[in-house]
Amino acid sequence: MDNCLFCKIIEGSIPSKKVFENDQVLAFYDIQPAAREHVLIIPKKHISTMNDVTDEDDQVMAEIFAAARKIASELGIAESGYRLVNNCNRDSGQVVFHLHFHLLGGEKLGPLN
Ligand code: AMP
Repeated sequence: MDNCLFCKIIEGSIPSKKVFENDQVLAFYDIQPAAREHVLIIPKKHISTMNDVTDEDDQVMAEIFAAARKIASELGIAESGYRLVNNCNRDSGQVVFHLHFHLLGGEKLGPLN
């Protein structure tokens, strides 16, 4: 997808600090961490928002959640706890329109809103 920041990260034309990758999913550290550990987990397929996920994406969504569990375990925060957040559209503050899940942890997190 032209002009999508996260598609460029997938292509490698914009650098990222990768945490996990397989054929369907990429995870990398957020450039502006909102917690001690802050990783973004994205599908390699361009999907703009959570509203655009379809039944055809069941497998990639399962891969995203499997990646989240694996990353949390590897970062050592699975037991202490973490949060998985998706922002969808304007009221949530979504800035990058390529589906992504924020994995946040490594410290006591504040309220959701
Ligand atoms: P959202 O507000 O849910 O759309 O979140 C977008 C996230 O992307 C923000 O937390 C940004 O800090 C993060 N971000 C923007 N550009 C980059 C980048 N080049 N590498 C890593 N994370 C980024």
